[in-house]
Amino acid sequence: MAKPLVVITGASSGIGAATAQAFSAEGHPLLLLARRLGRMEELGLPDTMCRAVDVRDRDAVVRAIKEAEAQYGPTDCLFNNAGIARLGDITKQNPAEWDEMIDINVNGVMNAIHAVMGGMIARRHGTIVQMSSIAGRKVYPDHTVYCGTKYFVHGVSDSLRQHLAPHDVRVMVISPGVIETEVLDHVTDKNTLANYKANKVKMGGGISADHVAQSILFAYKLPQNVLIQEICITPTRQEY
Ligand code: NDP
Repeated sequence: MAKPLVVITGASSGIGAATAQAFSAEGHPLLLLARRLGRMEELGLPDTMCRAVDVRDRDAVVRAIKEAEAQYGPTDCLFNNAGIARLGDITKQNPAEWDEMIDINVNGVMNAIHAVMGGMIARRHGTIVQMSSIAGRKVYPDHTVYCGTKYFVHGVSDSLRQHLAPHDVRVMVISPGVIETEVLDHVTDKNTLANYKANKVKMGGGISADHVAQSILFAYKLPQNVLIQEICITPTRQEY
């Protein structure tokens, strides 16, 4: 039987791209969303629609999902992954960096939920995988607003689960620690970056995005009446 559609936001690099590869290898058709279209197309995955969509644009998210569903059928899994981490000392940080994080990590996450939730309820089937972070479970000094956005993801996910559980729709949170991706490429606070890198060295480096992808795939493949509510995955030597 043909496998159902999986939608992944933030699929142009890192954990999103690795998860796209993992679900594609299982035979799922995909809708990949991010701003860098070329990076998604370069993955060269079969039965995959790539669209340059900014998750802040609610209408564009809805349009792309409708277009993919017309081709591949209803969305059975949303990996709500797109996000940025503008870490920095809050007392010195340009508030424009907070605005951007809040818009993408908070409103962007809500836009994708909005686009798939109604259909999943109607079909009594579906899985929403919410990308949080270990910084959505505990706070770190230079992660102030980033932590706020990921605590938001945790809070919304817990409430959303209460709404969707009676409809047999699963809401799962994934909370990674240090994963080797491009996530810190745009951090402007040099001190924050140096401390982060020093901690990373202490823990023997971050782990591969593919480990996160395989964890999500494992949880998704469990029967619909089985829900791993949260996966917290870190390097073994990540002490905090
Ligand atoms: P990357 O920077 O490699 O990936 C981020 C992805 O999000 C990219 O595909 C990027 O695509 C996309 N994205 C960013 N802004 C937007 C936007 N406005 N609209 C659409 N897509 C957007 O980092 P990661 O893979 O590490 O990050 C993925 C998620 O994992 C994030 O939510 C991050 O907070 C979370 N995370 C990462 C951890 C880590 O250590 N790496 C740890 C815990 C959580 P593009 O720029 O092309 O739009």
